[in-house]
Amino acid sequence: MIPFNKPYLTGQEYELIEKAFIKGKFSGNGYFTDKCHRFFKNHFGFSNCFLTNSATSALEMASLLCNITDGDEVIIPSYTFVSTATPFALRGARIIFCDSEAKSPNIDVQQLEQLITQKTKAIVVVHYAGLACDMDTIMEIANRHNIFVIEDAAHSITSSYKDSFLGTFGHFAAFSFHETKNISSGQGGMLVINDQSMVERAEKIWIKGTNQLEMLRGNVPKYEWVDLGSNFYPSEITAALLFAQLQKIEFIQSKRKLIWETYYKQLQNLETKEKIKLPTIRDYQSNNYHIFYILCASISERNDLIDFLKQNNVLAVFHYSPLHSSPYIQNKSTNKLVLPNAENYSKTLLRLPLFVDLELNLVSKITSLISSFYKS
Ligand SMILES: *Cc1c(COP(=O)(O)O)cnc(C)c1O
Repeated sequence: MIPFNKPYLTGQEYELIEKAFIKGKFSGNGYFTDKCHRFFKNHFGFSNCFLTNSATSALEMASLLCNITDGDEVIIPSYTFVSTATPFALRGARIIFCDSEAKSPNIDVQQLEQLITQKTKAIVVVHYAGLACDMDTIMEIANRHNIFVIEDAAHSITSSYKDSFLGTFGHFAAFSFHETKNISSGQGGMLVINDQSMVERAEKIWIKGTNQLEMLRGNVPKYEWVDLGSNFYPSEITAALLFAQLQKIEFIQSKRKLIWETYYKQLQNLETKEKIKLPTIRDYQSNNYHIFYILCASISERNDLIDFLKQNNVLAVFHYSPLHSSPYIQNKSTNKLVLPNAENYSKTLLRLPLFVDLELNLVSKITSLISSFYKS
């Protein structure tokens, strides 16, 4: 069976984890956490980084920093993972769902502006497959209405919009290092803060709502409970694992690029014959090869293709169930929202296996299986 995903190990993980043990402080906010923060600052220009246990918890920090409270409205795309929503729902926000564009799974910016009300406090945008949302337009709208922008950059490591890395645009950005993402520490994430005025408070929220960092800097004699917060930071073992992966980021990206481009080349003629659609990359987007997807003509065709691939030992998967039609939201609301583009991606999008160790001859096997499916 060709799996959908297989976590990649660089080989340096064991050595660095052992080093974390030798350093003698494993609980977090130590040597490797600092190394990772510096890496992100130097390579991507992220000025304020906070490693977290997941992208979900990075978004929970952002939600606390925005002071989300009962009755606030937060606009998100419906076509996304549940973690884009829950950190804001947890703080009492009403989640307002926006459709995707017809031409890409990213949020429809025109509809987004129409959804803004007096109660809107934040917008969360998802750069689907690491392909940037139109950040100039989104930031212009948000600034005009005085609303926070949070980039759900879970897919987006190394990607850029125009000349800047994703994660440098919103007031906040959340990255994921979950095993299914390009760079992985098993579970892991990071909050990037671009609004300098939020950093001091974030340091407290990060460490259980205490001023422990102030104590470590020698500014206060003991640390105390000073704000809301939680235990958001990862252990040094996780940070060491992440740092090992970061050392190989160029290699990882070059392998993923090769696989992505092989899929694209070998499937192009099916697109020419109008059997499937392939992702399009706009001038303002760069590709980080996080996801390779195709769009089928219908849900039945997509599901038949999944079955056909499975019979031939290939695991291809789809996502997401649009959040506006999730059981949690449906049970709470009486009016049935219709978001045709989100629903369409949910029904027709298919993700193909993409991981560093996937050999190109297997990519060719997968594309010929897809071709033979469309011949019959
Ligand atoms: C993976 C993912 C998340 C959650 O990341 P975790 O690190 O698992 O919490 C959030 N948003 C999107 C779009 C994702 O793909």
